[in-house]
Amino acid sequence: MPDILYVVVPCYNEEEVLPETARRLRAKLEALMAADRIASASRVLLVNDGSRDRTWETIEALHRDCALFSGVNLTRNRGHQNALLAGLMTAKDRCDMAISMDADLQDDINAVDAMLDQYYAGCDIVYGVRSSREKDTFFKRFTAEGFYRVMNKLGAETVFNHADYRLMSRRALEGLEQFKEVNLFLRGIVPMIGYTTATVEYERGERFAGESKYPLKKMLAFAMEGITSLSTKPIRYITLLGVLIFLVSLVMLVVFIAQWALGMTVAGWASVICSVWAIGGLILLSLGVIGEYIGKIYLETKGRPRFLIRQVLEDEDGQAD
Ligand code: UDP
Ligand code: MG
Repeated sequence: MPDILYVVVPCYNEEEVLPETARRLRAKLEALMAADRIASASRVLLVNDGSRDRTWETIEALHRDCALFSGVNLTRNRGHQNALLAGLMTAKDRCDMAISMDADLQDDINAVDAMLDQYYAGCDIVYGVRSSREKDTFFKRFTAEGFYRVMNKLGAETVFNHADYRLMSRRALEGLEQFKEVNLFLRGIVPMIGYTTATVEYERGERFAGESKYPLKKMLAFAMEGITSLSTKPIRYITLLGVLIFLVSLVMLVVFIAQWALGMTVAGWASVICSVWAIGGLILLSLGVIGEYIGKIYLETKGRPRFLIRQVLEDEDGQAD
């Protein structure tokens, strides 16, 4: 008996791409079922992340037409990572393995075959890794690759050029469930789960319809989230900076005392003002970073739910269909 696969797809204002995405995913899953690679209870789980267009109506229609599609409707827009988590946690009790991918199918769905190979060979987590970023604009490539480098320097372990296209086995999903953090950055948390992992390379295409739901502002917020929710190194760097500046001021004190002893009067009023401003700036910057972490602690202690599900399309027997 082959295992049950759930393909989890977060969707935010994706009415333009969903019909085509559904057609391609259906063809893919049916081919895999025919080849006896996945069980016939396998599903595509579409998560509606509080879309303002007709995405949920489209998902309902897909579910009505074909048992292969099931849906999860969130109560409001919670962002890509939370929507994905909602889908994975819904899939967890129903599947043997789940693959997450974006609704625009920029990630080549043919990589699913290689992921399944790795899964059946005993891997619990299989990362989809982009073989090249040629199709991206220079700006996106530059910022995204720079981001991964900075992340790794700051001590957050991420898989280079891996986004959220990955396969996770049921027990890996159960592991993920135990990470209770509210500030979600899945591609940083998943490597912490452990188990046997593998990577599969694929070419990333362009979005075939609609626009990116990740404008620069969201990308920057996401990068900030990634760094501050995974590592506390920035705080350490600030402490080091503080020590350094203190040492410099000691040296300055010695120099000034020596000058005074030699009878040289201090002429530079401007330099004093400059240093006051420089230090003021550094203090503000440090406070800002510290505040960032305190804000995180504040949010974590509230223990807010990370998502709320309005409705799951499901059969009586408990299998979503
Ligand atoms: N997405 C979501 N909620 C959001 C923003 C995006 O569920 O608030 C989904 C979106 O529908 C898509 C995926 O996240 O399936 C990735 O978004 P997109 O393709 O726009 O990002 P890009 O490929 O440009 O980085
Ligand atoms: Mg995309």
